[in-house]
Amino acid sequence: SNPDRVFNFAAGPATLPEAVLKKAQSELFIYKDSGMSVMEMSHRGKEFTHIIQKAENNLRELLSVPENYSVLFLQGGATTQFSAIPLNICTPQDSVDYIVTGSWGDKAAKEAQKYCNVNVIWSGKSEKYTKIPGFGELKQNAGAKYLHICANETIHGVEFKDYPEIENKDGVVVADMSSNFCSKKVDVSKFGIIYAGAQKNVGPSGVTIVIIRKDLIGKAQGMTPVMLDYKIHDDNNSLYNTPPCYGIYTCGLVFEDLLAQGGLGEVEKKNVKKAGILYDAIDGSKGFYRCPVEKSVRSLMNVPFTLEKSELEAEFIKEAAKEKMVQLKGHRSVGGMRASIYNAMPLAGVEKLVAFMKDFQARHG
Ligand code: PLP
Repeated sequence: SNPDRVFNFAAGPATLPEAVLKKAQSELFIYKDSGMSVMEMSHRGKEFTHIIQKAENNLRELLSVPENYSVLFLQGGATTQFSAIPLNICTPQDSVDYIVTGSWGDKAAKEAQKYCNVNVIWSGKSEKYTKIPGFGELKQNAGAKYLHICANETIHGVEFKDYPEIENKDGVVVADMSSNFCSKKVDVSKFGIIYAGAQKNVGPSGVTIVIIRKDLIGKAQGMTPVMLDYKIHDDNNSLYNTPPCYGIYTCGLVFEDLLAQGGLGEVEKKNVKKAGILYDAIDGSKGFYRCPVEKSVRSLMNVPFTLEKSELEAEFIKEAAKEKMVQLKGHRSVGGMRASIYNAMPLAGVEKLVAFMKDFQARHG
């Protein structure tokens, strides 16, 4: 690997596999026999048609996406889906349930309130978003059109390890998987909609992936902007307007890389190992480092931690950066540190961080 590259612990945009970047570099100027870059080609030409179809097929293979689900490559980030979801599957009179386990779930619920009746049936806010509810304690609303969860809270580092079901048999579970998309196996059939911004695990920013059960498509509220209407995008194979071509191409390279690694079962094993090493270092530090999240729901992707001597945090981040480990500062809303260790973070990066943490403790503990 390239010694000039840092270990980038950013939450997103985030580190990408070196093999993917090299492949993109080798094709940057001239893509195959097209005589041009992917950035320059028509989204309706045969090369790009092949690129987007292959990306979709590979994603379908990775996640074993059932036939009765559509895969859409959209724009606007996961944030746009916060409004697209209620607009597409609710009337203004409908009610929906949200479980709020962190800032992203909170944002999603607040946006949905503009378009339907939102019930926040559980919130972890009073416990500083360190928990996931027991599913038995949820009081779902009988008529809820959907139950929304954020599968992995990027800022707070809380991750669902299994998923609640919706009691309303006509309702569906909707999941924001932005920050743990393709990090492990998921039974897609348990969800009505899975959505994710690409810029953590599967590509650059600018691509938003929506996996949606087909029978949910085609019921958008009349006022729904054309760009937010799933039916428009589905009918046009994500080519209604100019898509984020280069981003989709890069996602396609990542999907190939994940398949080459042996698929999401293998990817998950690596993620479990990496996260385990880091949490063990935190828990084994005799309180020098702390992770506030309840152990059973700690994220494999985003590891927030603080220093007992909080006045040393800035020094920790500065020294780490000198050692080529960057973007370890916690989100501005929670402070402390956060190490995002997505699929593309090598084991060596986590090992280096842990060695640094031990050394820092030896010097400052
Ligand atoms: N949901 C989660 C879980 C996220 O981590 C983020 C961004 O970090 C978003 C939603 C918002 O995504 P975007 O910036 O792509 O709109």
